[in-house]
Amino acid sequence: MHAAVHDSIAFSFDPQQVADYLEANGLESTIVESGSSVAEYDVVVTFGHEETLFEAPWVHCIRAGIDEFPTDRYAETDTKLTHSPGIHATTIGETVAGMMLSFARRLHRYRDNQHENAWRVESYDAAFTLADETVCVVGLGTLGEGVALRANALGMDVVGVRRRPKPVSGVDSVFLPDDLSDAIADARFVVLCVPLTEDTEAMIGANEFQAMRDDAYLINVARGPVVDENALLDALESGDIAGAGLDAHTEEPLPADSPLWDKEEVILTPHVGALTDSYHEDVGALVVANAERIQRGESMFDRVA
Ligand code: NAD
Repeated sequence: MHAAVHDSIAFSFDPQQVADYLEANGLESTIVESGSSVAEYDVVVTFGHEETLFEAPWVHCIRAGIDEFPTDRYAETDTKLTHSPGIHATTIGETVAGMMLSFARRLHRYRDNQHENAWRVESYDAAFTLADETVCVVGLGTLGEGVALRANALGMDVVGVRRRPKPVSGVDSVFLPDDLSDAIADARFVVLCVPLTEDTEAMIGANEFQAMRDDAYLINVARGPVVDENALLDALESGDIAGAGLDAHTEEPLPADSPLWDKEEVILTPHVGALTDSYHEDVGALVVANAERIQRGESMFDRVA
């Protein structure tokens, strides 16, 4: 089997690394530039979509979220589309734990002060501990379970929102999406871990910010449009919530003139919450596993279309 490694994955990691991993695991691999024909390959491993990818029999997206892919059109063609869920529990879980710890222990503020060589002590009651605080995890798939596990380890109470009311290990109460306002009402942290769909677009807006505690923090590691960003800015400015940790943004890169950059109680990261030095191996293992399934005549894992 011959894999094309699309250079768009350079956003996440060096394409050569996954090419080397695939070669070491039995797949011939070639790095291809955006816009090149991929008709001669058995699979294209890619970050983003472009029209030429329809030439290949199989496209594997290295991301979990597939919202930027025209999945309906893939379903109408002979090109199979797979994605990469199930590999970001630890990275995103730790990113969210880091943001929560920073807000509670005030690390972001002291790092800001460090840039000014300033020995500046906040009021003692600006700091709090995560133990016994409540986090509401919205979406209890791979990311959500990874967040819940780490929140449990930090002594937090965990509630969550999922589409079916099935109990989830480590989550004390599970709410349905229709009860989102109740789910988030008592939480010190609301963490978004849902895919971007018609149902989740702008699911956090003015009503939800009003339902949240005024000392609560929103953390978005899902997709930017899950949050109404104008309503978020209003909520931060009016004190409806205390702050936000944002890895995903409505427009990426976040425009340089966005007022979010200047907010003291906002931690911004450029959609890097899942990056890790083993990303290429995690993705490569998914491609190899599916290549082996094709060779055995079995159905593929993580197929979107
Ligand atoms: P997943 O499919 O394992 O889990 C998503 C969960 O959300 C599922 O359990 C699903 O049932 C649930 N869900 C869907 N709609 C819902 C709704 N309206 N209310 C409540 N729950 C709902 O996916 P995952 O790996 O956990 O990733 C989730 C999303 O996070 C991805 O689609 C992607 O957009 C985003 N993501 C971001 C990063 C990053 O770098 N920040 C990394 C990985 C994934």
